[in-house]
Amino acid sequence: MELRLYDTLSREKRAFVPLDPRNVRMYVCGPTVYDFAHIGNARPVIVFDVLFRLLRHLYGEAHVKYVRNITDVDDKINDRAARDFPGLPLNEAIRKVTEQTGKQFHADVDALGALRPSVEPRATEHIGEMREIIERLVKGGFAYVAEDHVLFSPQAMNAANSTLPRYGALSKRSLDEMIAGARVDVAPYKRDATDFVLWKPSKPGEPSWPSPSGIKAEGRPGWHVECSAMAWKHLGEHFDIHGGGIDLVFPHHENEVAQTCCAFHRERMANYWMHNGFLQVESEKMSKSLGNFITIHELLADWPGEVLRLNMLKTHYRSPIDWTMKSLEESAKTLDDWYRVAADVAPGKPAASVVDPLLDDLNTPLAIAALHGLRSSDVPALAGSLRLLGFLSESAAQWEGRKQQASGVDAKEVEGLIAERTAARSRKDFKESDRIRDLLAAMGVAIKDSKDGTTWEFSR
Ligand code: AMP
Ligand code: ZN
Repeated sequence: MELRLYDTLSREKRAFVPLDPRNVRMYVCGPTVYDFAHIGNARPVIVFDVLFRLLRHLYGEAHVKYVRNITDVDDKINDRAARDFPGLPLNEAIRKVTEQTGKQFHADVDALGALRPSVEPRATEHIGEMREIIERLVKGGFAYVAEDHVLFSPQAMNAANSTLPRYGALSKRSLDEMIAGARVDVAPYKRDATDFVLWKPSKPGEPSWPSPSGIKAEGRPGWHVECSAMAWKHLGEHFDIHGGGIDLVFPHHENEVAQTCCAFHRERMANYWMHNGFLQVESEKMSKSLGNFITIHELLADWPGEVLRLNMLKTHYRSPIDWTMKSLEESAKTLDDWYRVAADVAPGKPAASVVDPLLDDLNTPLAIAALHGLRSSDVPALAGSLRLLGFLSESAAQWEGRKQQASGVDAKEVEGLIAERTAARSRKDFKESDRIRDLLAAMGVAIKDSKDGTTWEFSR
């Protein structure tokens, strides 16, 4: 079976044909590092990690390059830095915020079983590439300088008589509609309402870099050009896959395509545009004001990362996902079982029944259904398939031990209570034996009596 991927640009599932099978290239928009990442942010991390693993499986580990950037220039970072470190010079405070948040992000995504991308470029380390793209755009007549800003003109792009894509093609919006719908209070330095910022002046104290030619004052880049620059530097002018959440299609990805294609006179930036659907929590949009905003970090205090991972993959990546406690509990039970039967087994080859659905535009729900089937028919294939999907990073004993640690009771205490219960039962003190059983249940310990004695496990 061949790999087929849904492409947002052509609105269809197409066979995946890499530009160079010895160097398959994927770019995914990464986090803006100013706070703990929330569980919605975990979705692209997990989804594109599965794709990364699948591509490595198909083309070989050495032949896949995955770039996920870190956005470390942003107003939200500046605000946070000023708030958290009021005594420090802003630049130093910003460094503290981005360092801290970057570390937290890595700890979170490592726990989710996501492989580190091949490269994690930082925006602040690619200002030179951004400047070069901007200067090319000005030279080509696609951008202009006004009041120390550089602005990109989608109208100039669509007026160009060339093989460039149309502005609006990715998000399926017409420029006329965008013009009609533009806000009335357009910044005075913009020629047209649809123009977007490539470069802007920095306020005093804010991070700043030498500006593109034509601007004396120092300034800083707009968000969209950051990704065009980092993708270009690490993957070239044209590459295979570009991914991110569905909210990024417009304007972020539309603008990335415009910048890259106009700067390099290309018909395409990426051959496949992939977008994950949105995540909501218990049927509500996640937001700080609703009080249902959950960070990955908070969830990891209660659940192993692989439980969050499985829970995410039970829904197809393009569908919306409703994140619920009930579903998390089920995912935890499933993983407990898979760890018990498969974690210590020598893994076999991943089963076709699991790989085939993945090849069909990452149909993870179907792949997971197949895993349940393998549970009773082929445990080595179950183990191999689970590993392909990024599960079973621990032994069964480690998994069980972590649950015990998380529940805060130690095995000795449990064994002691079970011995007391056995004694109570043998003297027919059923009131006492029931009391101990309930106590164990309250600790999250389930017990099972058989003729060989009493066994127990954490049921969470
Ligand atoms: P941000 O830091 O907001 O730019 O988001 C980083 C990544 O997370 C982007 O790919 C977003 O599309 C994605 N993302 C943000 N919120 C959600 C959500 N609720 N559900 C799914 N993906 C999200
Ligand atoms: Zn981006």
